[in-house]
Amino acid sequence: MSSLAVRGGTVIDETGARRADVLVVDGLVAEVAPAVSAEGARELDATGCWVCPGLVDLHVHLRQPGAEHAETVATGSRAAALGGFTAVVAMANTLPPLDTVAAVRQVRAWGREAGLCDVHPAAAITVGRAGERLVDFAALHAAGVRLFTDDGDEVADAAVMRAAFEATAPLDGAVLGQHSECATLVAGGHLHEGDVSDALGLRGRPAEAEEVTVARDLALARLTGGRLHVLHASAARTVDLVRRARAEGVAVTMEVTPQHLTLTQQACAGGDPTFKVNPPLRDAADLAALRAGLADGTVDAIATDHAPHPPAAKARPFADAPPGMLGLETALAVVLTDLVAPGVVDLPTALRALSWRPARIAGLRAAGHGRPVAPGEPANLCVVDPGEAWVVDGAALASRSRNTPFAGRRLEGRARHTVQGGEAVVVGGEAQR
Ligand SMILES: [Zn+2]
Repeated sequence: MSSLAVRGGTVIDETGARRADVLVVDGLVAEVAPAVSAEGARELDATGCWVCPGLVDLHVHLRQPGAEHAETVATGSRAAALGGFTAVVAMANTLPPLDTVAAVRQVRAWGREAGLCDVHPAAAITVGRAGERLVDFAALHAAGVRLFTDDGDEVADAAVMRAAFEATAPLDGAVLGQHSECATLVAGGHLHEGDVSDALGLRGRPAEAEEVTVARDLALARLTGGRLHVLHASAARTVDLVRRARAEGVAVTMEVTPQHLTLTQQACAGGDPTFKVNPPLRDAADLAALRAGLADGTVDAIATDHAPHPPAAKARPFADAPPGMLGLETALAVVLTDLVAPGVVDLPTALRALSWRPARIAGLRAAGHGRPVAPGEPANLCVVDPGEAWVVDGAALASRSRNTPFAGRRLEGRARHTVQGGEAVVVGGEAQR
């Protein structure tokens, strides 16, 4: 294998920050020092950059198998690597859904073949995501799955969810990810139930639908000793519920997307389905509560919910267009521009939510993600240029789809290099395969 010398940057990880070069040999960090000597190593210029553990995304839709016209594991992996991610958790709502060991192994193999990012598939909670029969948790756990989710829909039946908690509680590191929207309360809804849904004359999805499911699942996690991960939280009351439950000892974690931290229902006022997403963009008070939760650590992770849809699908009227937004290539820059630069959160808090906390939630520290940049550690690194200014252009994204809500935004900060498993997979903002 090759060696790499990452020179001139500031290393930032959960142990703190220090000015240092990083030498990578045979997939591992070999030396972290003010000036490493590295004959024959490939040099990566990190002048003015932060050298961080690779970013970890708990929530991406890679659409393969079944919707390869929207994204594939390879195109999604490229988007991830360009965004600074070295590991992603692929959701199970593919066609067919990932509910067997064979299906999970297939997605993992596609990820290895692409060779740009570690792709860790989630598995469904119920067979076919139908909400009735539980998957074989023990077999999937033995095959390496840690996050189980029917994402796209909630597990609506409380007794099924209780049984899922009971089955996963004894499995080391297993966690249930819930798409927390009460299915009957959001049926037929297209956006946040509020001023904008009224103005557009469209049925809404009330914030209370999230509150109902989160409260129910927290009660079931407490009852069973199971672990709950609240996917893409969108409402202020969710932050309160999680904060309180955690103080009572319930095993719960939560994630928020960059879009829910930066956009509100007002983005939908013009009827542009680019801004249609489930759960929906909510109001300013929700956004403020999510930001406060991120700052105080109640929100564990920033996850993209990267959800590619082809242009034709997003060109339909708001009521007919599918929900979802791209996120992998913009997440870091949106967080730096809209949250870190204005002082909503500091840089270590942002990186904690983008790397080491999500790595813990998904059990990916054992796979070498979200760990300190130190000798002997697997070399999964993201080199961030905080000064690079760029304008988001949907057509220039590596994703096979174009549905970014940030098109035209001027952002500051970008991944310059990404090192995955000791290999430079992105150099100078260019994917190497
Ligand atoms: Zn979801």
